[in-house]
Amino acid sequence: MKKVILFIILITFFMSLQLQGFAVERDKKNNILDQPLQVAIIIDDFGGDVKGVNEFFASKIPITVAIMPFLTNSSEQAQKAHELGLEVMLHLPLEPKKGKKSWLGPNPITSDLSEEEIRKRLTTAIESIPHVAGINNHMGSKIVEDEKIMRVILEVVKEYDLYVIDSGTSGKSVIPKLAENMNIPWSTRDIFLDDTHSSNSHVYKQMLKLAKVANKRGKAIGIGHVGIKGHETVKGVQSALSHFKELGIQIVPASHLLETKIEQNPERFWQSD
Ligand SMILES: [Zn+2]
Repeated sequence: MKKVILFIILITFFMSLQLQGFAVERDKKNNILDQPLQVAIIIDDFGGDVKGVNEFFASKIPITVAIMPFLTNSSEQAQKAHELGLEVMLHLPLEPKKGKKSWLGPNPITSDLSEEEIRKRLTTAIESIPHVAGINNHMGSKIVEDEKIMRVILEVVKEYDLYVIDSGTSGKSVIPKLAENMNIPWSTRDIFLDDTHSSNSHVYKQMLKLAKVANKRGKAIGIGHVGIKGHETVKGVQSALSHFKELGIQIVPASHLLETKIEQNPERFWQSD
């Protein structure tokens, strides 16, 4: 009889241990779920009269609008985006390793320019886009690997108190490292939402990938485009919105998802001078 009682006591003891273990597991999960998942959807190549521009403005999707400088409607679209409550970025054309010069638009940053000319072009571009909060690169696989040129660009970015998003056109980009060293808020693109051939169903699938990254890391940045297939991109993004809602994913401006030392280490921030 004593043995049976001892057995029951032991079983109860082990079961309670296990239950405690479960409780700890569940709390861990709850903590993650307590923080809202956040995603930024940057739409590049605004500035001209191209497909997707009006559709995106009418869609009420809280995108971040990245505008190419010196195009017919660049400043007008920046103004309009701001009035609609959307964050505005400068989409800075940088020389790529391959491609046509015409794809870069007017006054791009190329490797043959003097430091002075780079500063002048960038300053003029920033000043031409009202309400600009940050920059990202249009193309640029050549320039983003060039530490000397990127440092000149990022010095101007810092002077204007902007943030930088690496669009991810080169795996060897120096933007994250430099921005971190120069104390400029930065981040990188996680998922491209479209390409020049993409249908809205492709964009939808890319949106699901973006949601997956957010689920894993708590946040994610996607980049899509207006242009030849801009109307498809709008539709694809739109069709994924209900799924995002179900998963509790918020769409926020790009500036909400930046890597900064201040955010990561508040104590050090307060102790510094
Ligand atoms: Zn672009």
